[in-house]
Amino acid sequence: MSYVDQVIEEVIAKNPAEPEFHQAVREVLESLRVVVEANEEQYKKDALLERLVNPERQFKFRVPWVDDNGQVHVNTGYRVQFNSAIGPYKGGLRLHPSVNLGIIKFLGFEQIFKNSLTGLPIGGGKGGSDFDPKGKSDREIMAFCQSFMTELCKYIGADTDVPAGDIGTGAREIGYMFGQYKRIRGLYEGVLTGKGLSYGGSLVRTEATGYGLLYLTDEMLKCNGKSLEGATVVVSGAGNVAIYATEKAQQLGAKVVTCSDSTGWIYDKDGIDVALLKEVKEVKRARLTEYAAARPSAEYHEGKGVWTIPCDVALPCATQNELDLDDAKTLVANGCFAVAEGANMPTTMEATEYLQENGVLFAPGKAANAGGVATSALEMSQNSERLSWTFEEVDSKLKNIMVNIFHNLDDAAKRYGMEGNYVAGANIAGFEKVVDAMNAQGIV
Ligand code: NDP
Repeated sequence: MSYVDQVIEEVIAKNPAEPEFHQAVREVLESLRVVVEANEEQYKKDALLERLVNPERQFKFRVPWVDDNGQVHVNTGYRVQFNSAIGPYKGGLRLHPSVNLGIIKFLGFEQIFKNSLTGLPIGGGKGGSDFDPKGKSDREIMAFCQSFMTELCKYIGADTDVPAGDIGTGAREIGYMFGQYKRIRGLYEGVLTGKGLSYGGSLVRTEATGYGLLYLTDEMLKCNGKSLEGATVVVSGAGNVAIYATEKAQQLGAKVVTCSDSTGWIYDKDGIDVALLKEVKEVKRARLTEYAAARPSAEYHEGKGVWTIPCDVALPCATQNELDLDDAKTLVANGCFAVAEGANMPTTMEATEYLQENGVLFAPGKAANAGGVATSALEMSQNSERLSWTFEEVDSKLKNIMVNIFHNLDDAAKRYGMEGNYVAGANIAGFEKVVDAMNAQGIV
């Protein structure tokens, strides 16, 4: 049995009931097969892959909090510190009822390679809780965030582990968590990113993941003789990534005609009205039915369906495994020529392979959505310097980073004879730097 297959088997055997983690490990290691085979003896002797797939440490803790009626609830909190070879652990905090250890491990594992691809000195980590922020009052959100941070603050710090937002964790939650960290530890430091602008946040952090997704997509299309100008784009999700992806796609001349949330989706033939979408989702925190009610050109449908709308470019920006093989077949049949992942692992492996086999340009999330964490790292730099850069400065650094990421993965794919396979290119480019650092630091 090959070393790669042996490690995949061990991961499945040692981490039962963690299918998303198995999926992420399989996807990464399969595409690294050619690199691993070229160094198999040495990697095996050093147990390199075993060290890569086992987190350096992981925390699981109780989070008790009291609701507005005096009822006590207990959620579970997680922080997985996966790999610190190239810098302090960095990765978001997900608050969603579906969160469990396997989901956090899949996200933390992917984060290692994503962070490496940015070219910035940040290691891989992830955390979160099965707490559901939907329908909670501000006071309940604060109570949860304070309790969560009361435990988490023991394990994080500006030079050790710097969490950020993710699904369910936006500026409000980061603010409550930062306040509690400062209160307990007595340190005013850049321990979290995604902070408000009045207390150390960076301009462009809110827009960064969505904007970065479009900067990379734009470069990928240009290098393949295509353009966003005049393209029809379908986007899933209606959260932070989806909103700013839509905004930048429209600035670059495309027409975005869909968005979705966990209950339904919008088809807006005139193009999504971003100001209205922001009002509904960021201000009112309401459902998409409110968007449809305010916009005569929009149709609202229950359930899932954005991939059925004919498009040139598809941008999945909601959650993992939201684009499956049937969806990929529909996209190809409708003439879609590019898919770029705004969310983490939104495309199943079968769907990814089908898209690639059918000539669709495919940019994997760990490269395409790296703009968020890259800008978080820029926030860390500004905090360390006690300076704030302008919007234009940060935006131009973000754009450079995304263009560089695309060329790094394009070059890596070409070096290994897999031209145009950006999945393999991203994994190889991310892996090479981490492995180099791990080797230099000895068996730790
Ligand atoms: P938000 O919480 O702001 O938005 C998530 C969106 O996806 C919402 O519209 C939500 O709908 C929808 N959604 C969530 N879960 C499901 C589900 N199970 N089924 C259908 N729809 C769902 O999160 P973000 O926009 O920040 O994150 C979206 C994705 O991007 C995630 O995969 C995240 O890990 C990834 N990402 C985010 C980064 C960031 O900077 N924010 C950075 C890199 C990656 P509803 O409101 O109904 O739940």
